Amino acid sequence: MSTHDHDHDHQHADGEHHHHHERGPESYYAARTKALESLFREKGLIGTDTVDRVIHFFDHEMGPFNGARVVAKAWTDAAFKERLLEDANKAIKELGLREGIEGENLKVVENTPSTHNVVCCTLCSCWPWPLLGLPPYWFKDPVFRARVVREPRAVLKDFGVELETAKKVAIWDSSAQVRFFVIPERPEGTEHFSEEQLAALVSTEAMQGLGLVSQPQPGA
Ligand code: FE
Repeated sequence: MSTHDHDHDHQHADGEHHHHHERGPESYYAARTKALESLFREKGLIGTDTVDRVIHFFDHEMGPFNGARVVAKAWTDAAFKERLLEDANKAIKELGLREGIEGENLKVVENTPSTHNVVCCTLCSCWPWPLLGLPPYWFKDPVFRARVVREPRAVLKDFGVELETAKKVAIWDSSAQVRFFVIPERPEGTEHFSEEQLAALVSTEAMQGLGLVSQPQPGA
C-alpha cells in the first residue's frame, strides 16, 4: 500500500542527510517520537504520564474493538440491528458505549449479498472515533480519498477485496455532520460463534467497507 512508499520516501530523504541508511522506518519514527515526547515534557507541555494515559485510552477504551462488538451484536440480534440502522447513536448506548466526541451523528449501513458499502471522507478524514479509535493512515491519504470515489473497485482490489461485478458498490462520504459505519457480511461457518468470537473476526477495514470478514479457519 502507499503507506509504505511514503514511509520509505521520508526515511530515504533523511538517510541521505545523515547517512543512516541502515535504520529502518520503525526505529526512525520511534526515535523521532521519543525526542518529541521528551521535548514536550521538558517544556512542561505534558506530564510524565500523559503519553501513557493516552495510549492506554486508545488501547482499552476507544478502539476498533468497540465497533467489532457492535457488528457482532448486530449479527446475532436482528432487533438490535434494526435499531442500529434506524438510530445508531441510540442503539450503541445499549451496549454501554459512549457516543464521544466526533461520533455524535453516526449512520450505520449494512453490506448485503447485492450491495457493498464503502466509506471515505473526500474533504478531509472524518472518522467514527468512538467505534474505531485512531484513524489509520490510508483513510487520510489524499490519493485514497480521490481514487475511492472515482474507481472504487480498483481501490478495493488494492485492499484485497474483489467483488462480483453484479454486486453494487455504494460510496458514503463521511463529514463533520455524519460519520458512516459498515456492518460487514457475516461469514458462513460462524453460526455457533459467540459474540466475542465473532467480534474477533472483524477488522477496522471491514467496518469501513475496505475489507471483508473472512471465514474462520477450520478448528479455529
Ligand atoms: Fe473529514
